[in-house]
Amino acid sequence: MAPITQPNAAEHETNPLEALQARFDEAARRLQLSEGMWKVLRTSTREITVHIPVNMDDGRLEVFTGYRVHHSLARGPGKGGIRYAPDVSIDEVRALASWMTWKCAVVNIPFGGAKGGVICDPRILSAGELERITRRYTAQILEFIGPERDVPAPDVNTNEQVMAWIMDTYSMHVNLTSTAVVTGKPTSLGGSLGRREATGRGCMIVANEAVAVRGMKPQGTRVAIQGFGNVGSMAAFQMRDQGYKIVAVADMYGAVYNSNGLDIDKLFAYVRANNEVVGFPEAEKIDRADVLTCDCDLLLPAATENQITSKNANSIRAKVIVEGANGPTTAQADDILRQKDILVVPDILSNAGGVTVSYFEWVQDRQGYFWTLDEVNTRLERIMRSSFHDVHEAAQKHNVSMRIAAYMLAIDRVAKAMTIRGIYA
Ligand code: GLU
Repeated sequence: MAPITQPNAAEHETNPLEALQARFDEAARRLQLSEGMWKVLRTSTREITVHIPVNMDDGRLEVFTGYRVHHSLARGPGKGGIRYAPDVSIDEVRALASWMTWKCAVVNIPFGGAKGGVICDPRILSAGELERITRRYTAQILEFIGPERDVPAPDVNTNEQVMAWIMDTYSMHVNLTSTAVVTGKPTSLGGSLGRREATGRGCMIVANEAVAVRGMKPQGTRVAIQGFGNVGSMAAFQMRDQGYKIVAVADMYGAVYNSNGLDIDKLFAYVRANNEVVGFPEAEKIDRADVLTCDCDLLLPAATENQITSKNANSIRAKVIVEGANGPTTAQADDILRQKDILVVPDILSNAGGVTVSYFEWVQDRQGYFWTLDEVNTRLERIMRSSFHDVHEAAQKHNVSMRIAAYMLAIDRVAKAMTIRGIYA
């Protein structure tokens, strides 16, 4: 039998569930949340584990493990993405589901929090295998999703095509076309205009507010972006259009730097052709890790969890951090960043543009009436800006970081909804 080993300090720091609970506990304590409510909101409502048999292209039968976690359904149906990655774990999905509860509450949209994940490596799967995994996973969580129950969306390594397969599988089972069961769909299938850019656009909107708070302007502000997937690349375009200078971009393989600013159109085209940023001619190659500590004014981590930790937080030179990813900063790093007076716009606020336009998509699907891009963007901007100011004012009032203020605002909204509903017995 393998010896039982205690997790070491670094493992505690990078466990996403512990990272989440550290912030939750601090915000709950400051709110003087009752012990009972504390217990309820610290845990998920429902956790589904499925084992998904799939016929592989080479004739083998393989079994994949998937999860869907409902953290809270107090304010509305569950809402949150589905990610496909080899390192998906139940603790990660629990944390991500809970972050969705707080995110939807911060921007005040009528959803609870949910998240899903399948342990698989999409880089080595064929399109057919991905489709079969997606459809079987959907079939196995079918009773727990639906427009009024839980509405999945894209996340790491899932996209519009995956959402279309989920929508089709669900629709076949209920024997009608149900577009509102997922968001982030293609626009030909009930998707919303502006959804693809929404998370990056939301990051740009809060970045504009954050730099203003710091007495800076978008024009010429030097930005480093970690991650060049949907969020990182769309944020790069949106911020470039506002006058920011994108000096560094990293992906999972490496990073590139140009102090005069990278040409984002050319970089995007290069990545399309080569699948990585390294080798882009008009830049120097730097270490992937150095993108976080390079000479810049604003840092946008848009990759995965645990990138800014107690090990590198001290070396960060940016004055503002806008979190495009979920959970990119550990709780220990938060303390260091606060001591350094770096303004951190927390994930549950700064990346909420995606779920906000998901909400618009769900509304449009249920009405069968679609909005113009201008309507989507205007409404998104209104929500992101006012949420930024709500959180910023709460941070000043309680003398806490914007992250703790965002949690306090969100926990208070969810706790109020639960209190007025009462506990069904
Ligand atoms: N996966 C995204 C997030 O983490 C989007 C969720 C959604 O649109 O429901 O916010």
